[in-house]
Amino acid sequence: MPVDPASLKLQIHPAACLREKAAVVESVDDEVRAVAARMIEVMNSADGIGLAAPQVGLGWRMFVCHVPPPDDAAGPEDPPTACAGPEVFINPEILKYEGPPEPYEEGCLSLPGILGEVRRPPIVTVRAIDGQGNTFERRAGGLLGRCWQHEIDHLDGVMIIDKMSQISRLKNRSALRQMERRGR
Ligand SMILES: [Zn+2]
Repeated sequence: MPVDPASLKLQIHPAACLREKAAVVESVDDEVRAVAARMIEVMNSADGIGLAAPQVGLGWRMFVCHVPPPDDAAGPEDPPTACAGPEVFINPEILKYEGPPEPYEEGCLSLPGILGEVRRPPIVTVRAIDGQGNTFERRAGGLLGRCWQHEIDHLDGVMIIDKMSQISRLKNRSALRQMERRGR
């Protein structure tokens, strides 16, 4: 059954779709492009920098991101840490990690009010397919590289609450319990 993009809404923990492994997108067609456009809309209206398909209840391996450069940015960095506009990654794979994992406080649109310290390698190289069906490879660091890793985790049903430090886990325990009670 074709997906109605308008029906795609942000899913909040503990929605079951957030914990399932997403399936490979077989072909990049108008339906996939319409879904990507809707995901960008949902991401923007929630003021997010990234959104994976399972977060709108769709078990597809794709995510969108838009990590704008900070206002005081000196200029483009190498590897880039931001992107010029919204981008679509279909069937993304991490080809390479660089550097020892670094801690950083992350949030997630599916975990409103939760912030937790997650350790990730600072630089990654990703291969994916864009909205036109072309394969590309890109390398990123900073917030952009972190965003890609966070979104790719979603495609395997992995969330920041699985990876955050013990201290963050304790700090968020009651907020998380409340969310889980509401979701039941
Ligand atoms: Zn997330």
